[in-house]
Amino acid sequence: MEHEDGEFLPVSLEMVGEARRLMDSFNTKYSSNEKVVAVILGHNVQDLSKQLIEYGADAVVYADNPELKDVRNTIYTKVIGQIVQDTKSLGEIEPEYASDIKRPRYMFFAADSIGRHLSSTTLVELESGLASDINKLVIEDIEMSHQQKTGGTKETYAKTLEMYRPDFSGFLWTTILCLDNRNPAFKRDYHPQSCSIIPGVFEPLKRDSLREGKIIEFTPTIDPQDLKVKVLGREIIKSEVDFETPRTIVSFGRGIKDDPEQNIKLIENLAKELNAEIGVTLPMSKKPYQISQALDSKYMIPARVIGTSGHKTSAMLYVAAGVSGAMQHVMGMKDSGFVVGINPDEDAPIKNECDVFIKGRMEDVIPLLIEEIKKQIQIVEVQ
Ligand SMILES: Cc1cc2nc3c(=O)[nH]c(=O)nc-3n(C[C@H](O)[C@H](O)[C@H](O)COP(=O)(O)OP(=O)(O)OC[C@H]3O[C@@H](n4cnc5c(N)ncnc54)[C@H](O)[C@@H]3O)c2cc1C
Repeated sequence: MEHEDGEFLPVSLEMVGEARRLMDSFNTKYSSNEKVVAVILGHNVQDLSKQLIEYGADAVVYADNPELKDVRNTIYTKVIGQIVQDTKSLGEIEPEYASDIKRPRYMFFAADSIGRHLSSTTLVELESGLASDINKLVIEDIEMSHQQKTGGTKETYAKTLEMYRPDFSGFLWTTILCLDNRNPAFKRDYHPQSCSIIPGVFEPLKRDSLREGKIIEFTPTIDPQDLKVKVLGREIIKSEVDFETPRTIVSFGRGIKDDPEQNIKLIENLAKELNAEIGVTLPMSKKPYQISQALDSKYMIPARVIGTSGHKTSAMLYVAAGVSGAMQHVMGMKDSGFVVGINPDEDAPIKNECDVFIKGRMEDVIPLLIEEIKKQIQIVEVQ
């Protein structure tokens, strides 16, 4: 559960909510009583635990230690590994299953910069698999036959976590499974089934102060070898681009490709007329085009990315020019008030987010828009 200055990041509560929903239907379907356990690491974090129960966890295990004050990947990986294999505390949470518990059945992390790193190293530590950037989860019994996994025979995998993620710019859903090897030649368990979850996808539950649960303190074993990275100071750096204040954002994506230099200038002109800040899609920040240094260093930068890997905005007006509308981008702009898309492809997923979708190339559409905005501004000024 990620937290900052004594408050949980929204994604932490979203994960607890989704875990609760999944395990409620799991327990009904399989007539069981399995638990949602939240894990917190940090210093002076005990007071945070109760909140997680109120948001849906059955139990909270926290590790409180000055060495855990700042997130350091190596030590966090080790301590999470210790907690999830500590059959004593897990047995305390559900004595009925105490003798059977080896590891959690499922495990979630946030798909942000801390969670993506931590999830990968933790799952290496636990020698299981990880699906990253998930935005839909289903638990099913599935039947499958696979040369490697089952030796070619048909097997039922009960209680399998189907982890869905948008791929190929949101045009395709991929389902990722983490299955045991049942093939006698390579027999091996893969648990937990684990994923990182895109922030903003799931709703947290309504806080219920009457909910009750167990809170357990875990004392980690800290090896000095895992403390080689020292945090000497910590400062939150203000982004060089301000997406908080402006009421209008014009974003561009790979649709600028036919003439990147000229198209960025078009976007700049449109943004000037609308008094807007300029955003970009993630691929733009990887500098895919040869353009002048001035435009490259001003716009093709991570600080301008809108989406799960960048900023989230609730601008009053959001113009998406040459943006396909991949899920990861949409998660950053879906709370905008009024959305305009400019794209020649009317099947582009951004259309579903738009109040107005203009089917056309930005080279043709933006000059007309600028002309019209100028006319309208004159009319308003005269009135
Ligand atoms: C872990 C992970 C995290 C990610 N995080 C983010 C994120 O935070 N933000 C983000 O944006 N992406 C993110 N992505 C990438 C995302 O999946 C998409 O690949 C990306 O958003 C697509 O960028 P795009 O819309 O610029 O390009 P494309 O998908 O290539 O779309 C370009 C669009 O331009 C249109 N076009 C073509 N010519 C023109 C023209 N002349 N005028 C107008 N339109 C035109 C096309 O029809 C197309 O719809 C992430 C991916 C992963 C795997």
